[in-house]
Amino acid sequence: MQRYRPHLRFGDFNSFARITVTYMEDWSKKAQKRILLALDACAGLNDDSEKKFRLWQTLETTLWEFPEAVDIGFKKFVTLRFAERQDALHYHDKNCNFSECTICDLMDKWYK
Ligand SMILES: [Zn+2]
Repeated sequence: MQRYRPHLRFGDFNSFARITVTYMEDWSKKAQKRILLALDACAGLNDDSEKKFRLWQTLETTLWEFPEAVDIGFKKFVTLRFAERQDALHYHDKNCNFSECTICDLMDKWYK
């Protein structure tokens, strides 16, 4: 079996994780729990690409909940949509004023 490693123009694990977290409230409780477990497991790994792979494995079980991802395929979905979110996060990181920010709230809630 070939190991798919998400083609990450969004780079390191932290970026990948933060993008994933922007989707947190779109998932079912069950999927949220899986993602949190994955993030927890990743915290115990040293290698960035192992962490990305671990998180990807979980995304493969949670992306079923997104009709568009099922339609166009998970890899394509991640390549397209995660890249868009990456741009949004870049914009956020440059421009956030830290008050009443949805993205900061999401990160505080789900990703320490
Ligand atoms: Zn913010």
